Amino acid sequence: MSNREENTESRRHFLKLAAGAAAVVAVGAAMPRDARAAELPALSMDDAMAKALKYVEDHTKTTDPKYKKGDDCTNCMFYQGKAGDARGPCQLFPGKSVNAKGWCVSHAPKKA
Ligand code: SF4
Repeated sequence: MSNREENTESRRHFLKLAAGAAAVVAVGAAMPRDARAAELPALSMDDAMAKALKYVEDHTKTTDPKYKKGDDCTNCMFYQGKAGDARGPCQLFPGKSVNAKGWCVSHAPKKA
């Protein structure tokens, strides 16, 4: 096989993979928000980013000096869960769910 044929074959393979990835993204975008949130695995306390941001599942358990009384994931601008849900997505931890009562040092109050 010549270099040109190999390049064409590689390009074809890449395009097939790209088309498959686009289809997965499209299906994910079309799913109802609740279904996606419910399927998200819980953010692990062993996650490097969770550790770096000092994430806790229960905001009352943090001893971090940045914590302000009353702050939790539900009143953070990065939280995307619905009111009343125990867990929901957080923009800082894509593909994972955080506890509605959780908290981390990146907490930013929701704007009214
Ligand atoms: Fe919770 Fe906000 Fe931290 Fe995400 S960024 S874990 S919603 S406090």
